[in-house]
Amino acid sequence: MNRLIATESRISHLYCSACGKKYAHYTLTDFAHCCNKPLLVEYDLEAKIDRTLLEGRENNMWRYREVLPVLDSDNMVSLGEGMTPMLRADRVSDANGFKDLYVKDEGLNPTGSFKARGLSMAISKAKELGVTECVIPTAGNAGGALSAYCARAGMKATVIMPIITPKIFKEECMFYGAEVMLVDGLIDKCGSLAKEIEEERGAFNISTLKEPYRIEGKKTMGYEIAEQFNWKLPDVILYPTGGGTGIIGIWKAFKEMTRLGWIVDEKMPRMIVVQTESCSPVVNEILGITTDESKFQKSIANGLAVPKAFGIDLIREVVSESGGTALTVSEEEIREGTLEFGRMEGISVCTEGGALWMALKKLVERGEVSKEEKIVLMNTGTGLKYLENLELGLR
Ligand SMILES: *Cc1c(COP(=O)(O)O)cnc(C)c1O
Repeated sequence: MNRLIATESRISHLYCSACGKKYAHYTLTDFAHCCNKPLLVEYDLEAKIDRTLLEGRENNMWRYREVLPVLDSDNMVSLGEGMTPMLRADRVSDANGFKDLYVKDEGLNPTGSFKARGLSMAISKAKELGVTECVIPTAGNAGGALSAYCARAGMKATVIMPIITPKIFKEECMFYGAEVMLVDGLIDKCGSLAKEIEEERGAFNISTLKEPYRIEGKKTMGYEIAEQFNWKLPDVILYPTGGGTGIIGIWKAFKEMTRLGWIVDEKMPRMIVVQTESCSPVVNEILGITTDESKFQKSIANGLAVPKAFGIDLIREVVSESGGTALTVSEEEIREGTLEFGRMEGISVCTEGGALWMALKKLVERGEVSKEEKIVLMNTGTGLKYLENLELGLR
């Protein structure tokens, strides 16, 4: 890119999250290969940006464009993602004694999950850098989002999924015209095939955190949490963790907002990692439990069946810096939590979101979270795609 454009983005460079080495942001570098750790995006935030600038802007994630990486607004590939509702969970709270419990309902995003934020950003940036073909390994929702945004950008999409993924996720990708490939294994195996396709066809690989821009989309959840609470932060945030982009992104947003002066003298929320007993590499790592990766299995919460998190160091940092913790719930608890929450609140909870409700009850029992605290559950997707997993009867 040698054309000069007037840009609102304050992007300055990329840097390796392990060694700090800097990389240019206007070229497609071999993103994954510095220290084999994620690259992150840095912005020039020294010149202050007044948050009143946001007034009157579009009600989606692009309202934060100064702290997003896309230079030319013509490259934004958008379906209206972001600014999802922050819902009070009053009936669940009354029945269980909570005083200030919220659900951020990410199921209302395009393609029914918060993956839309990350893929909208990644595809926009890929378009800006001249990409015409993308490949992604996915447990389901990322594939649907990639397919939709590639369709919108006029790019070719290849999606690689575990063969056991519920049919709706596969057909969603086909609906948007993507090529779907199925693999006998979990998402880590899909990742190996994605690498092959990247090498064979020159397709741009959008694997979680091996590409630096998805996280920039997901971090907008953090900006919205602050803005929706009038620039105050909650005490506790529970996050259903697979690859961890969301939890790393939310934390990145909180730190950027502190530098920007958008949040002042706020105590940072405790960030809680929730996983399933069936597949808990991040929880094990944080709690110091030895892991046998080969024992990890599929889950009714597809997004949590990630046997190896590329960004594990960053997730560990978030949990420890924030004074948070990590815990698992069982498959049966996930099912129960999802159904209970849906029945009580009328919110279309995905199984990943349902896991959080059960995790919260456990944390209260253990005395690690108080019912008086301001708590946010991140419902990362719509429950509609998971009805097959829940097997409610009526055949
Ligand atoms: C992908 C996914 C997750 C896990 O997200 P990460 O940010 O990769 O940890 C959780 N819930 C749903 C519904 C997902 O699609």
